[in-house]
Amino acid sequence: MNNINNNINFYNFKLKNKLLKIINEIGYKKPTPIQLKCIPLLLNGFNILGVAETGSGKTAAYILPILNNISNFFLQCLVLVPTRELALQIKNNFILFSKYMKFNILSLYGGLKYNIQLYELKKNPNIIIATPGRLIDYLKRNNIINFNNIKFVVLDEVDEMFCKGFVNDVKFILSYIKKKYQIILFSATICNKIRKIINKLNLSPKEINLSLNKINNIPKNIKQYYCLFYLYKDKLNFLINFLEIEQFKAVIIFVKTKNYTLKLSNLLEKNGYNCSPLNGDMNQNLREKNINNLRKGIINILIATDIASRGLDINNVDLVINYDLPLDFKYYIHRIGRTGRCNNIGKTILFINKKDIKILYFLQKKLNIKINRIYPPNKKIILEKRKLKLINLIKKYFNKININNIFFKDILNLIFNKYKINNKYLNLILLNYIYNNIFLNNRW
Ligand code: AMP
Repeated sequence: MNNINNNINFYNFKLKNKLLKIINEIGYKKPTPIQLKCIPLLLNGFNILGVAETGSGKTAAYILPILNNISNFFLQCLVLVPTRELALQIKNNFILFSKYMKFNILSLYGGLKYNIQLYELKKNPNIIIATPGRLIDYLKRNNIINFNNIKFVVLDEVDEMFCKGFVNDVKFILSYIKKKYQIILFSATICNKIRKIINKLNLSPKEINLSLNKINNIPKNIKQYYCLFYLYKDKLNFLINFLEIEQFKAVIIFVKTKNYTLKLSNLLEKNGYNCSPLNGDMNQNLREKNINNLRKGIINILIATDIASRGLDINNVDLVINYDLPLDFKYYIHRIGRTGRCNNIGKTILFINKKDIKILYFLQKKLNIKINRIYPPNKKIILEKRKLKLINLIKKYFNKININNIFFKDILNLIFNKYKINNKYLNLILLNYIYNNIFLNNRW
């Protein structure tokens, strides 16, 4: 995390002790640049539009001052986000940071049972994190949400919300809030079109633009590559070959269609990989389960549509593969921003058909970035890698073998005596067995 060049720590903000305690517990040593700029302004009542590169700590930049300045009477904070995943992630962040405080925190989004959420709403939440559509459902159908005590309204991933056509929904929701409140807008990308919409909504935030590269906000710790392919069938083979030689903890592979997330997931599973799909047709529980499995390392590959390109914070993702081209260059930024979180090193590979090479030039020009060519690993490299992995696997097995086991000793003697097989030959058979049945099936 880029937070070294300052001597200010969280104590300087004069946050409540209960917040300092949890910050300490989580292990944040110093505020990140966006936190450094935004926290004092927010504590002092300013409206802000924060623009910062993805993974820069923007969630805590607004959660901390909000928690510091609200009380647990009535509804005091509303956060609007474009996706269910983000709603849940932000709710979890609120829960984490308010560990030593007593707030009732609720997330509202489609896919969860309406009546259960209604029941939760009746319990007077202090903080609501919602997707616009679901919140509007409640506003229209039940006159249950009371905005009279709102102090903070946050629009997170504001560009995405406006691009997704939520402008009128946001307008509609804000029209319900009659009292003066502090508005906080956050975005990884920003352009004049978005600024105009913000002005039209009569929001006049102070812009804090901390992006290193104001055109694209891509952190420097993400190394970007492209791989050319000519035939469609090569694309899948190249992918499998890359997965075999790349060293990664977790990968997100972005594809164009919901169907293909399932198909590719099946294909990779057959090749011995632990993977799951993620698309908007899947029910919410399964979506959350698959994301959490990637977080916990239960799977290490997630094959997703652009539903996963925004805001998801999974720290261990060290490789992002753009298997299909994103529809919009902005999605390219968001997709690759799933890696390189917290200043970790991230790598991205974009698959591109030779005939689409112009798109690659356009993407680089438009975003002012350089994407270097990478070649798919050849057979020699793959075999070398396999040799190393196999040796490690065998070492691991040998550590577990009990050489005094009578049962196995008897079998060995039987094979030596009965079939007159020598030791060397037996070792080869054993190696062959391990290679075909354990190594290839499990992609060690
Ligand atoms: P965000 O940009 O809000 O998605 O945050 C990206 C990651 O940075 C999250 O995993 C946070 O836990 C982490 N983070 C946020 N603030 C800090 C900080 N001050 N020091 C270290 N890590 C942080």
